[in-house]
Amino acid sequence: MQHATIEQFRAGFWSRLALWKKILIGMALGMLAGALLGPDAEMLKPIGTLFINAIKMLIVPLVFCSLVVGVTSMQDTRKLGRIGLKSLLLYMATTAVAISIGLGMGILFSPGEGINMVATDSGVAAKEAPTLVETLLNMVPKNPVDALATGNILQIIVFALGLGIALNLSGEKAKPAVQLFESLAEGMYKLTELVMKLAPYGVFGLMAWVAGKYGMEILLPLIKVIVVVYIGCIIHVVVFYSGLISTLGRLNPVRYLKGLVNPAAVAFTTTSSSGTLPATIKAATEEMGVSKGISSFVLPLGATINMDGTALYQGVCALFIAQAFGIDLTFSDYLLIIMTSTLASIGTAGVPGAGLIMLSLVLTTVGLPMEGLAIIAGIDRILDMARTTVNVCGDLMVTVLVGKSENELDETIYNRSSTAVQPELA
Ligand code: ASP
Repeated sequence: MQHATIEQFRAGFWSRLALWKKILIGMALGMLAGALLGPDAEMLKPIGTLFINAIKMLIVPLVFCSLVVGVTSMQDTRKLGRIGLKSLLLYMATTAVAISIGLGMGILFSPGEGINMVATDSGVAAKEAPTLVETLLNMVPKNPVDALATGNILQIIVFALGLGIALNLSGEKAKPAVQLFESLAEGMYKLTELVMKLAPYGVFGLMAWVAGKYGMEILLPLIKVIVVVYIGCIIHVVVFYSGLISTLGRLNPVRYLKGLVNPAAVAFTTTSSSGTLPATIKAATEEMGVSKGISSFVLPLGATINMDGTALYQGVCALFIAQAFGIDLTFSDYLLIIMTSTLASIGTAGVPGAGLIMLSLVLTTVGLPMEGLAIIAGIDRILDMARTTVNVCGDLMVTVLVGKSENELDETIYNRSSTAVQPELA
């Protein structure tokens, strides 16, 4: 005890600081470095790339092992189906709300008015929408090793669910395999904790690079789109998600907002919700008290199929492009945008820039000019930062609600003040 106190006394300011505070400091210093260095800030990018690589290294083994353990600890297959259905419904419904907010913001603020778009060749190819049957068939991996090697999360989920259920059905004989997965999963949780210690530095490097790359000259003409997307994102998380947490979940929304700081910062700087998964799972279990079983199933699913921020961004951008080209949208166009975006978000990977490709799909469906994409592409990284953050916050919100409804949310952990977890996270 005395030893710990002396250690604590000796430890400097930095090592005693909670992880989320370090991440925010890293972000602020990164912005400053980017502003001072300009394009030269690119030399700091490798620090960020190191962090992204380290976190990507975790995804496949973490999702696979923890998902198998999630199923084997849940014996009851009916419960599993129920959780899957609840998550799917919540994911789709919140996405439809997100895109409506995006459209509403686009109508209200008209970000495209007064911009003369020059018709240039857009460098982004339109993406063909896969049919529902194709999407469903693609979820079953022909070769699970290939799915693991290429990091196809949806296929990994299907295989891990199948393996988990089969291990349950095999009873005694499968015990050693279950124990193996349990101890591997524990190891992966520990490794995640270690990798997350790099977050403040990685975030610093990434932020410096982005701030240095996009000087004010590129931003100013499109500042309205950026501001509208950011305001929409903030409303979606602070008003809509918090509202659902307190009404449907009967939980304190402030705790939810506090708990999401770490994964939100990682999502903001890495612009990949799949890449943020390890941080998201850690926050759901350690900060919000959701059981590992629920988190390891609902979160990977969300990282692949739930893209509220992306849908919101598409609403704003579709309207921006229509306004900039002087095209009037009809009511059925709006409905078409809502439907296409909601469906397109399923099956699109949570990787940087995926939303821009999906935007091409929405534009083609509604018949809007593809040239608009070229302009959006110039500022896409900045928009991606906001939408990925919302994507991750949405995954966490649904996980908390599903956890609560299944009695798998430890409210003492959820309501614990974040200072109580400091020693572990610092
Ligand atoms: N980058 C986003 C994500 O990973 C997807 C997108 O580009 O909208 O969630």
